[in-house]
Amino acid sequence: MLIKDRTKSVRIKKLEVMQRRIIRHHQRYLSIEDELSGRLAGHFGEQSNDYFLKPFCDFSVFHDLRLSAHDSYFQIDTLLLSPRYLLNLEVKYITGTLVFDHLNQVIRLKDDGTEEAFKNPIFQVKRQQSHLIEWMAKNRIPPIPVRSLVVMSNPRTIIKAPPSNKEVPQYITHSPYLQERIKVIDKMYGEEKLTKKELSKLSKMLVRHHIPENPDLQKRYQIEEKDIIKGVYCTECFYMPVHRRRGTWTCPKCSFNSKDLHLNSLLDYALLFGTSITNKQLCEFLCLKSRHVAKRLLFEMNLPHTGGCKGRIYSLPELK
Ligand SMILES: [Zn+2]
Repeated sequence: MLIKDRTKSVRIKKLEVMQRRIIRHHQRYLSIEDELSGRLAGHFGEQSNDYFLKPFCDFSVFHDLRLSAHDSYFQIDTLLLSPRYLLNLEVKYITGTLVFDHLNQVIRLKDDGTEEAFKNPIFQVKRQQSHLIEWMAKNRIPPIPVRSLVVMSNPRTIIKAPPSNKEVPQYITHSPYLQERIKVIDKMYGEEKLTKKELSKLSKMLVRHHIPENPDLQKRYQIEEKDIIKGVYCTECFYMPVHRRRGTWTCPKCSFNSKDLHLNSLLDYALLFGTSITNKQLCEFLCLKSRHVAKRLLFEMNLPHTGGCKGRIYSLPELK
């Protein structure tokens, strides 16, 4: 049973807005595109891996959990819950070859022949596992075995390790073999450790304690307001800015027209500047000439607001 589904993270959504709205000659523009393509590959890799979990309908399945640990957070790509054990899956979409050496260092050999150091994904799942065990103890969940696997979602990823490294075959698998690995683990844990009530409590707590990440990417990429292209964008061809005439937005490039085209651009605003907006800010961001038009759009959206007529602050929908 799927309890918490996978959606595009706020980080990916912010990167998509930045790719759309940052001036092309910005010194970090290529780095933004690089990070976005890497994160999208990871996201689609995780989605494709979900297919291999379908036969396991007895588990409660959680995707993209982010829970607090000490004064920081830990993230879990996929968590499977059963009354007998928990299974933590870290999904990796990697191109090229991963080489584990006898010192537990990991080197990634790319298809173009270059190599780079890679964070050891086995250490990563072990750390997640110990954080999860601590988190459950803190929240008074009875002890239950936790197992972890690193799942390679790109079938072309080659893994190389010396025979002395026993952890690589123990912790790493490719997506198509995941079902077999789960069947083997399943046979190892026959005894029920959690009652139905305890399992349901754990399930609800995981959803309630999940804290979505909201990174400050403008700071990270040194983006100032002057670097951001303003205006309403066309959702069909991404042309910007689209202008509004007689109550309708009409794209000059592809002729797509809609009365509500500003709504998508306001989502961009919320991702870039936060969910509070004034009439003046809306005028500037949507490139509207008339504050009366802005007032009408704000009125039609029926947004919650604070303050009197002058300086009224409107709340755009929360980001998820
Ligand atoms: Zn268009």
